[in-house]
This record gives sequence, structure tokens and C-alpha cells, in this order.
Amino acid sequence: MGTAISVSDLRKSYGDIKAVDGISLEVFEGEIFGILGPNGAGKTTTLEMIETLREPDAGEITVLGMDTRSDARAIKGIIGVQLQSTVFIDELTVRETIDFFASFYDRSLPVDSLIARAELGEKAGSRVNTLSGGQSKRLSIALALVNDPSIVFLDEPTTGLDPQARRSIWEMIESLRGQGKTVIVTTHYIEEAEYLCDRVAVMDRGKIIALGTPDRLIDEHVPYSVITFRLDPPLDPELVGGIHGVKSVAAENGSYRVTTPVPQETLIGIVAAAHEHGVKAEDINMKRASLEDVFLKITGRRIRD
Ligand code: ATP
Repeated sequence: MGTAISVSDLRKSYGDIKAVDGISLEVFEGEIFGILGPNGAGKTTTLEMIETLREPDAGEITVLGMDTRSDARAIKGIIGVQLQSTVFIDELTVRETIDFFASFYDRSLPVDSLIARAELGEKAGSRVNTLSGGQSKRLSIALALVNDPSIVFLDEPTTGLDPQARRSIWEMIESLRGQGKTVIVTTHYIEEAEYLCDRVAVMDRGKIIALGTPDRLIDEHVPYSVITFRLDPPLDPELVGGIHGVKSVAAENGSYRVTTPVPQETLIGIVAAAHEHGVKAEDINMKRASLEDVFLKITGRRIRD
């Protein structure tokens, strides 16, 4: 896999605020690369500097080998950008809106193929102000594709959408990867980063605090699962602590929360212990650690606090 984007020691301040504070990263061709972080982490500023829309204070950025400082024009021709909020012209239809955007480029994809990609066939003749939230987002992604870019930037493409609309956006993004495009997406949704992204840079206060595949980040930083359950009547927490794999136990009024690196074995141990002592095990719930736990472990805060 070649390198699509290379960023080295990138910095940008606004007055005293270090919005981007010395980040380095590499995005590979054909992957969906996520930048996950809370509001104000510096995701948009990072994206806009790579897109050549904002000038860095310091650092190097290359996009398919081209330098953002000297080759901005050429870079603009091969990237597609969806901004955090796209303002449409209310009076135009979906088709007219795409046509209008296409007119800015020397070369553009056929309007019908873009309408199809956004699954807006039924809405092609409707005014844009009649679109649902999800449809509007799909249109704004279609607009980022008019010049058939090889790298697509999506800034929080599903913010504010319900789960179903979010899924349809995820499908659209996955199909971009299927066409061999490189996608960079920012998000503050854990599930989105875990489900969609091949690799994720976790960003906080202008810095990248972790970078890798979601699985590796979780294994590296929080290599255990949490099992919660109730025992009726309760058993001594010390006895629960002796169950295979259990690393920690919190117990209150017959409710237990244990952590374990070997959840399956521990689960069997819990059921066996309950059986052996003639008590009932109920409400058993097993949860693998998430990128939220990774963020919490490193920063001591939650992503959406
Ligand atoms: P969000 O999800 O809210 O967009 P973000 O992670 O994208 O957050 P940025 O928008 O990059 O973060 O903002 C990083 C920091 O820089 C924030 O503290 C923000 O207030 C500040 N900032 C961003 N743009 C400007 C600007 N034009 N002028 C002054 N401060 C700015």
C-alpha cells in the first residue's frame, strides 16, 4: 500500500490556543482513516490544513507526494472535500445542485452516477430544502465526489443523524473504499470509528494520543472485558475474585462487575460457581473494551464530556 498523505510535526495556533500541537501521521492509499476526538480536539483544523484550505504555522504535509505549500492547486484537483456543514441554495433541486458544483471543475463525473451513489434518485427533482438530514449529508458527500477525487475528506459526516441514517452514510463511505479511494473521516462517535475505520488517530487537545487499528488500540491500552451480573442470593466477593481470569471485582447488593482478559473462561467460571453454590446467576452482560475506554485510560476523561 502506498502513502496517500504524510503529515510531519504539524502545528497551528489561534492566539494562545494550540489547535494543532505537533502531530505526525501517515494515511495509506485505499484505507478509511479516522480522526477521533472530542469537540475542539483540533480535527477540523488538521483536515483543513491537509486540504490546503488553511495555512499551517509549521510542519510538512504531502498529498500523493505533493507539498501543500507549493502544489496546492494540483492537490485541490485530486481531492474531494465535504465540510462540516454544507450550505445549499434552497431554490435548487438535487440535480441542479450537483450540476452547479460540477461546473466548477474542468472534469466531472456524470450527474446521474452521483445521484445514484447518494441514493437520491427519487429526490433528483426535489428542492434541496425538502431533504431529510441523512439525505442532505449524502448529497454533500456526492458533491465531494464530483471531480472523481482519489482522496475524500469527510468532516463529521454523521453528526446529528439517527442510527439508520448513519448506517446509510457508512455504506456510502465503505463503497468509496470499494472503489479504491482513500477516505479520511473525522468523528466524535466511538462506534463510527470502530465500525468504519481501518485505522484511527485518537486526538485530544491538539495532539495525537494513540494511532492504530481499533482492535490494536483496544488490545494495547485496555486488554480486558467487563462482565456484569447478579447473584441471588449474593456470594462473597472474594469468592467471585477467585474465578478464573478475574482481575478486579466490584460488588454491591448482589450486583457484580468484574474485569477479565479471558472473558469466555470467566463467564463459564461465573456460571459454574453459581451452580456449585446453589445460587442464581442473572442479568449477565459481557462488554469488550471500546475506543472510549482507550480515551478514558489515556486522558482520564470521556470523549463526549
Ligand atoms: P469540532 O468537532 O467542534 O469541530 P475539532 O476537533 O474539529 O472540534 P477544531 O475545530 O479544529 O476542533 O478546533 C480546535 C481548537 O481551535 C478549538 O479550541 C477551537 O475553538 C479553535 N479554533 C478553531 N478555529 C478557530 C479560528 N478560526 N479562530 C480561533 N480559534 C479557532
